[in-house]
Amino acid sequence: MIIKPKVRGFVCVTAHPAGCAAHVDEWIRHVKSKGPVPNGPRKALVIGASTGYGLASRITAAFGSGAGTLGVFFERPSEDGRTATPGWYNSIGFTAAARAAGLYAQNINGDAFSDEIKARALETIRRDMGQVDLVVYSLASPRRTHPRTGAVHKSVLKPVGSAYTNKTVDTDKGVVSTVTIEPANEREIADTVAVMGGEDWEMWMKALSDAGLLARGARSVAYSYIGPAVTWAIYKNGTIGLAKNDLERAARAIDSLLARNGGSAVVSVNKALVTQASSAIPVVPLYISILYRVMKENGTHEGCIEQMRRLFATQLYADAGPALDESGRVRVDDLEMRPDVQGSVARIWPDVSTENLRALTDIAGYRSEFLKLFGFGMAGIDYDAEAEPHLPMP
Ligand code: NAD
Repeated sequence: MIIKPKVRGFVCVTAHPAGCAAHVDEWIRHVKSKGPVPNGPRKALVIGASTGYGLASRITAAFGSGAGTLGVFFERPSEDGRTATPGWYNSIGFTAAARAAGLYAQNINGDAFSDEIKARALETIRRDMGQVDLVVYSLASPRRTHPRTGAVHKSVLKPVGSAYTNKTVDTDKGVVSTVTIEPANEREIADTVAVMGGEDWEMWMKALSDAGLLARGARSVAYSYIGPAVTWAIYKNGTIGLAKNDLERAARAIDSLLARNGGSAVVSVNKALVTQASSAIPVVPLYISILYRVMKENGTHEGCIEQMRRLFATQLYADAGPALDESGRVRVDDLEMRPDVQGSVARIWPDVSTENLRALTDIAGYRSEFLKLFGFGMAGIDYDAEAEPHLPMP
């Protein structure tokens, strides 16, 4: 099958197997080029390991510190005439590279919110790894079936309290328009907290702890975002922000649980980046397009892998331990939030229109980064050649 990108709104419905593997290799090369992360994890469970920040965390643990990794994710394999999702191919690429380097790598594809997948992960750790010393929680999901009640919660990306009007961009068509998003109701707020809050992270950690599968000193980390005032109504103060507050509540509870055995848990606030999750949020892709332009110009731009390698090396596993902010969070969004960067973004924001989108923002960089998520635009891949879409998960 000849596989080309098919973009539908904010998703691409195709993915290129060799392109995804090349993207994973690029991230592995970055971590190797930076040298080892000393005193890093030895055995890591990564929940949400197939794309974005979770994949970058897995690669950093494996190729920065030589960790064996168990990856949990929810990806769709190929079907007749249809490619698999990129996380499927990424995980195959990662597993081949890790095993070639002599590292343990195992995968579980299924719903991380379910008791069944948790039980499978626990069994795999008991059988193959003994215990884990790092648990990365990096899920981004539109829905969760609650394992106790059976209720299906759907997360929404909406403001809270009042409607929000701002500029947004259709990244595919390059059209800048004004969007008004009505506020969420109480039910939608509760549902978003149920999906993207911290309850499931706590369930994972309690299950691992009760089963004796956490090594002495085990750590856990989950990811959040804050960003500048221009996105607060839709992010920090919106439904997703309330869910992230709950994630921070869970971090404190998990930290107490792990502290009994010399461990710790923390939320890391990461930079806004192009991922499948962030491209679905209104307004945020326009902000990212401007941010990329500013940060590339001043030489501070980072992608997922640069962020995660820096998180592990300079915060989580630094000799002095992580430097926490006033709310106990790790901040690797420090470069994004620098006043000069945000000043530039704020100056550009009001002027952006469909006509000057290319000149004022890095929409081109946004698009090429977006296509890379699906394995397209990678150097050395012949996209006109036949490709085999049906690859089994090792
Ligand atoms: P992503 O879409 O790239 O990755 C999501 C991962 O979750 C994938 O591995 C996917 O397979 C997995 N997943 C989704 N539903 C699942 C389920 N039911 N069971 C098992 N696995 C499931 O997202 P991302 O942008 O890397 O986000 C990861 C975390 O980082 C999120 O908490 C997000 O809020 C946070 N974050 C993202 C950004 C950003 O700009 N992208 C910035 C800061 C923080």
